[in-house]
Amino acid sequence: MFSKPVILDSSEIKKFAQGDIMDLVIKVDKNRYFNVIFGEDILFRILKRDSVIKEKNNLKKLVRHKNLVEKNNLEIINQIIALDTEIKAIINNDRFSVNKKSGYDDKIVLIEDKTKRLKNLEKILGVGLSKEDEISICGHCNAFRFGEVIGKSLGSKNQERECPICSRIINKSFDVLCLPNAIKDFLAGEWFEFYASKFFELNEWKIFTRVYVFGSSGVEHEVDFLAVKKGISIIGECKTGNITRRDVSNFIAKYYDINCTYAMLISINRVDPGTLKYIRKNPNLIYLDNIKKDSNINKKILQLDKALVN
Ligand SMILES: [Zn+2]
Repeated sequence: MFSKPVILDSSEIKKFAQGDIMDLVIKVDKNRYFNVIFGEDILFRILKRDSVIKEKNNLKKLVRHKNLVEKNNLEIINQIIALDTEIKAIINNDRFSVNKKSGYDDKIVLIEDKTKRLKNLEKILGVGLSKEDEISICGHCNAFRFGEVIGKSLGSKNQERECPICSRIINKSFDVLCLPNAIKDFLAGEWFEFYASKFFELNEWKIFTRVYVFGSSGVEHEVDFLAVKKGISIIGECKTGNITRRDVSNFIAKYYDINCTYAMLISINRVDPGTLKYIRKNPNLIYLDNIKKDSNINKKILQLDKALVN
């Protein structure tokens, strides 16, 4: 057993006086890293979780959208998800069947209508989220076959493609819009973690969105964000759906094991009175619910700054 002191350059240490946070990246092996976050009264070991937003500019644009938390915008997102589910259901229903009677023409009209509506919603939102996919139709079994985004592609339009059911040559195709799975998952809730995080960033908090934070037990806890500022640390849980008492108790357990200053629950929906009563029993649990617009989030962070950070 030996210990080897690692000395940091004095120019790095000097930053601490200004309240900066050091984010030390420790390389475990070729592809594995963890980070040690430290500063004045701050010490955490974290692992950064993957997110599709890293390589998607349209998702970065979505998160920058002003007042995305407004009811009508949330409805657009939900409608886009619903239309995508409906389009995929029609295609998947027919995918493995051999349908001797021609029956896909009315389905194509239905899909085209849904695709048009999806396109319109994206236009209103100002962000393109779906991807064009090519669905093949086998004129022999009269059913839909795979596309690139939905399932495995049969190959490009310019080459001869075999129907995986009857092995005859695919003779028709049409274009459809749908959501890649990772984007659909992002729209289902992940977006709100990044959305809430941006308000901390605006108020000069250092924020790590979508990370695992190691607790004193050695367990790594999945948290939506870890925010730090001048010795204060907050783990956050962001919910686009309803919060249950079970969610709260799981979150509090994480909080005690991680040993940060506060835990914060951010919920777009109003928390029900029973759960709220339980939340209030925990003085280190900050909550923000019933969010209608951006200023609701920003105001709460300004309050926190006033109360916690001097
Ligand atoms: Zn076929």
